[in-house]
Order: sequence, then structure tokens, then C-alpha cells
Amino acid sequence: MVVGKPFLTAEQIQDKVKTLADMISRDYEGGELVAIGILKGAFMFFSDLVKHIKVPLTIDFIIASSYIKTETTGEVKIYYDIREDITGKDVILVEDIVDTGITLNYLRERFLNRSPRSLKICALLDKKERRLVDVPIDYKGFEIPNEYVVGYGLDFDDKYRNLPYIAIFKKRV
Ligand code: 5GP
Repeated sequence: MVVGKPFLTAEQIQDKVKTLADMISRDYEGGELVAIGILKGAFMFFSDLVKHIKVPLTIDFIIASSYIKTETTGEVKIYYDIREDITGKDVILVEDIVDTGITLNYLRERFLNRSPRSLKICALLDKKERRLVDVPIDYKGFEIPNEYVVGYGLDFDDKYRNLPYIAIFKKRV
């Protein structure tokens, strides 16, 4: 297994996180927000992002997975659900990466059924080429090519999440 050199450096990521947080702060000025992090992958992005958001917010998490190793199963499993009642609230879903779109689309529908006032999506990475289901990304960090990436919360086999940067991951051949 080989982790390449940084594809997105810690500095590039932090700059983007601040930009996204500023956009969110501007859009929700005067209001309140429920920020929901999709674990495990979004844990680092989520914690950096909320540090820079300037509107009052509450946080919650959902643990969802549609992935086994590097292959998508096309099926979303919920291991832990939010505790917060989101009815009538402004909600932002925070995801690490949108690949096929299956996970976010599933979660979006699931949360829309609970009648929030609004529901927006913030994703750090967008692997557009791989999209199977169309899902609106309101706040997007970077569009990336069709490569498997690790670091900054993203794993391979639950490892490499702690890297402060994002790297392309290759299986040794
Ligand atoms: P989707 O449902 O959009 O196909 O997949 C979303 C989930 O797949 C992400 O939350 C992430 O956990 C995983 N995933 C998709 N692409 C990658 C990737 O390049 N690297 C890693 N580590 N996970 C990925």
C-alpha cells in the first residue's frame, strides 16, 4: 500500500475550510444552525469547519457507511443516528467526499423527511466523474479526479485518517 505525497496540503485545506465557513456564516447571519457531521470520514473537516462558523450552532453526528474497502456496496447503513430534533430548523450536512452520491442522497432524503426548515450540504471533496445519483452540493471544497484519497479524516481500512493532508492512495501492484 502506498500513500503518495500530499495532493492537497494542510495549508490548502485550511484555507478552503475558512472560505467555506465564511460563506456559511454570511448565508446564515442572524440565524441559528444545526451542523450534522457524517462520521467517521468528516470528523476532522467538521471540527475545523465549525471552529470558523460565526453563527450560533448546535452539532450532531450520524455514522453512515456505504463502503467496504475501496468498493462501494451501493447500500447505506446507519450505525448511529442524530439525537437532535431538526423539525423547523436550518440544517447543514457536512460530508468529507461525494463519490457516487449514494450516501448523501440517502441521508438527504432521510433528513428531509423530518421537516427541517432548510437543508444544505457542505462537502470538502467532490469526485464528480463517479457520480451515479445527482445530489446538490451547496458548499463545495475541491473537485478531485477519480482517484482514491486518504488523510484528513478519509481512510483506507480505517487507517490514515489522522494525516493532516490529503494524499492519493495506491494499492501496490
Ligand atoms: P458515495 O456514497 O458518494 O459513493 O460515497 C461516499 C463515501 O464513500 C464517503 O463518505 C467516503 O467514506 C467514501 N469514499 C468515497 N471516495 C473515497 C475516497 O477516495 N477515499 C476514501 N477514503 N473514502 C472514499
